[in-house]
Amino acid sequence: MIQGANNRPDYERQLRRAGVRITRPRQVIIELLGKMEDHPDAMEIYRRAVAVDPTISLSTVYRTMKLLEGFGAIHRHAFEGGPSRFENASGEHHDHLIDIETGDVIEFKSDRIEQLQDEIARELGYDIVHHRLELYGRRRKVRKGG
Ligand SMILES: [Zn+2]
Repeated sequence: MIQGANNRPDYERQLRRAGVRITRPRQVIIELLGKMEDHPDAMEIYRRAVAVDPTISLSTVYRTMKLLEGFGAIHRHAFEGGPSRFENASGEHHDHLIDIETGDVIEFKSDRIEQLQDEIARELGYDIVHHRLELYGRRRKVRKGG
């Protein structure tokens, strides 16, 4: 993976090497995706891109995202009950809890769960190469005076 000066992966250079022409709209989208720290859907990414450069089209956003997804630079999450959500792939591994009422995505990591998964896979004769864990929940109502 090519690292940029700021220690982030340099996706623009990777794309150039792959023969992709980096137009100004693409550059804006690549920069935006490289910096995102949440889990926006494509429309939200489009809104953010247009806020930077109003000439950017939705199809350019889609095409650029597809390129970066192909590079493993962003992850696509097909969480239930909504459009695909995307996240910068350069962060550390974590799992997600999805609030089914608000659609909020909460990140978590549990060493106990990671270890348990390894144990289960090993018992079944496998090494885990990748996993996804999604929890769907409703925020608990805190009883007043309880
Ligand atoms: Zn995440």
